[in-house]
Amino acid sequence: MDFNPSSRSEQWRSKLQAFFDAEVLPRHRAWLAHAAANQDSPPFMAELQKKARAAGLWNLGLPELAEDEPGTKLTNLEYAPLAEIMGRLFWAPEAFNCQAPDVPNMIALQNCATPEQKKRWLYPLLEAKTRSAFGMTEPDVASSDATNIATRMVRDGSDYVINGRKWFITGAAHPRCSFLIVMGVTDADADRTRRHSCIMVPMDSPGVRLVRRLSWMGCQDHVAPIGELTFENVRVPAENLLGAEGDGFKVAQVRLGPARIHHCMRSIGLCELLIELMMARAAERSTFGRTIIQYDTVQRWIAEARVELEQARLLAYRCAWALDQSGHHGAWRDVSLIKVAVPAMLQKIADRAMQVFGAMGGSEDTPIHQALAWGRLLRIGDGPDEVHLRQIFRMEPMPPWSIADSPYLAARPA
Ligand SMILES: Cc1cc2nc3c(=O)[nH]c(=O)nc-3n(C[C@H](O)[C@H](O)[C@H](O)COP(=O)(O)OP(=O)(O)OC[C@H]3O[C@@H](n4cnc5c(N)ncnc54)[C@H](O)[C@@H]3O)c2cc1C
Repeated sequence: MDFNPSSRSEQWRSKLQAFFDAEVLPRHRAWLAHAAANQDSPPFMAELQKKARAAGLWNLGLPELAEDEPGTKLTNLEYAPLAEIMGRLFWAPEAFNCQAPDVPNMIALQNCATPEQKKRWLYPLLEAKTRSAFGMTEPDVASSDATNIATRMVRDGSDYVINGRKWFITGAAHPRCSFLIVMGVTDADADRTRRHSCIMVPMDSPGVRLVRRLSWMGCQDHVAPIGELTFENVRVPAENLLGAEGDGFKVAQVRLGPARIHHCMRSIGLCELLIELMMARAAERSTFGRTIIQYDTVQRWIAEARVELEQARLLAYRCAWALDQSGHHGAWRDVSLIKVAVPAMLQKIADRAMQVFGAMGGSEDTPIHQALAWGRLLRIGDGPDEVHLRQIFRMEPMPPWSIADSPYLAARPA
């Protein structure tokens, strides 16, 4: 493992940082004003994407881009520091076509789609000509156990007919979302991990209804608005099936590794910003004759945030390296480790930042309340903490000795 950035990685990082400083950050206030009144991406987004693409900063989170697919082909480890820069603003990834849930969907399509399917569903995403969503979670079943997913997908001639209800589907309420990858039961009698399949469903299919737009802890996701949907006798050609019948878990897993690690990389960048905000605010305000930054408590909060952040960054880099070396299966444990560690860190640092800011920290004038909500969400979304901790525990080996005969313990007197 060598975590020194390669010269290639450093070159792209500097280029992205320069673009972020010159083109993205100066638009942040305009983005906030637009988001306060609208549900679509701001009018400047298309122009910004064009500039980013012309600068070669495009589809950066896709290590497996084919020759004929547009984008900067970076490894996961090379991408990590770039994702951190994007993570400083919730909307910045969209400028580079690096936003969730489209990127994990692109990865699922790269890995599981046929050449014809790639033309229809993947290429428009790579070009940012459309948006997408992934529909697994359902209100009526505990969806952290994906084997519970109950939406029915019944084969009828050359079609599948879909009936069910999904909620908390990120991106589904975006006006430009043109399709969802929907997970449902195709064979209720099959082995529990072979019952489900994934299929592409155009949003404008008769029977697909966007019931409502959801928020999370009062925060709207303006980049990929969250939807609740019903599917009533939705008829989709069987050729839209992603992978084979029964491959639903495989498809979901292919996209979940990158989805989780990208969220973590961006969250680390967000924590960097939170530390900067704490430093600036604490240095500017005084109470009882001292600036707030002079108080031991505040210094300790900031220092502890730094310790936690550096630990998390190393873990994220190792996870990215493992993904590069051995793919999703080899990185499974690292993905779970990072998926538990980073949201907890983000929540903790955001909580401290809120305390340092006082009332302003909970207002819409800072990103702190959203960071707190985002950290909280990541402890549930893409698999709750408990499910990952269970996985991690299961991979913990039992030592080859019992307590009574452990060579590490003192012998019991006869
Ligand atoms: C903002 C947001 C965006 C989301 N985006 C998407 C999306 O785009 N697509 C999508 O399909 N879903 C999405 N989700 C849904 C998310 O993935 C699910 O909420 C998550 O998988 C948990 O499912 P559930 O809500 O049904 O909780 P449940 O399955 O009902 O679980 C509730 C709780 O039970 C406990 N629990 C579960 N299993 C165990 C266990 N093994 N051991 C101990 N305790 C356990 C955990 O504490 C868990 O939080 C999103 C959620 C949010 C909040």
